[in-house]
Amino acid sequence: MTYTSLQSPTDRDYSYQLNLAHLYGNLMNTYGDNGNVLMMKYVGEKLGASVTVDIVSIDDRFDPDHYDLAFFGGGQDYEQTLVAKDLPSKRHDVAQFIENNKVILAICGGFQLLGQYYIQANGVRIEGIGVMGHYTLNQQNNRFIGDIKIHNEEFNETYYGFENHQGRTFLSDDEKPLGKVVYGCGNNKEDGTEGVHYKNVYGSYFHGPILARNPRLAYRLVTTALRNKYGQDLQLPSYDDILKDEVAQEYADVKQKADFED
Ligand code: GLN
Repeated sequence: MTYTSLQSPTDRDYSYQLNLAHLYGNLMNTYGDNGNVLMMKYVGEKLGASVTVDIVSIDDRFDPDHYDLAFFGGGQDYEQTLVAKDLPSKRHDVAQFIENNKVILAICGGFQLLGQYYIQANGVRIEGIGVMGHYTLNQQNNRFIGDIKIHNEEFNETYYGFENHQGRTFLSDDEKPLGKVVYGCGNNKEDGTEGVHYKNVYGSYFHGPILARNPRLAYRLVTTALRNKYGQDLQLPSYDDILKDEVAQEYADVKQKADFED
């Protein structure tokens, strides 16, 4: 299913082309997570790429060779149950996509379902797609809700978001967190981790949506996808060239507000 309203304008010249799959986009789309799709498309176009966006949902084939980027958003427990039933049919192709170093962004429920299993608020276990090692437990009569700030040491970048989840996720030994929690709950409120970074898979509990609030991460994801497709030495406009000026003020305001609440 192609998002006809989300195709790149045809009256421009593009040097590149990217295909983006919105996994279960008709079911998993809480808290404005769709904004991440808009942001990837926006940054792609700024970098000279036309972007085609498809919803790949229940009974649809996910072709790992066709897609360059995949987004898997958050969802309520009910929708996650429906999605979980379809996941085994996509396991092989999603695993292939990850092993080929392609880019996935998974938020909240999507992040949970890339892993081994998720225990719902009612205690019922649903299986994840099982392509990553993390697993998610439940908690009694509680959710982790609120502003969150993390720091990624590898990139030396700080990310801001808003979390709203009952699941408590624990990473496997081969998974790094997306960042260390500065404030907020993160994956489980115990080990100070938030999200996951494995190969070019980025998982997080951040709504907001994460890429609109953290444009450096958006730039990282889209440039990674372009270099995967067109060569690692592809010369592209810098972050400062295409994004710094237009997001600086808004980003600074958000940052200040978040730090004020620190
Ligand atoms: N239903 C899951 C939880 O509550 C995921 C929530 C979400 O995606 N926002 O943990």
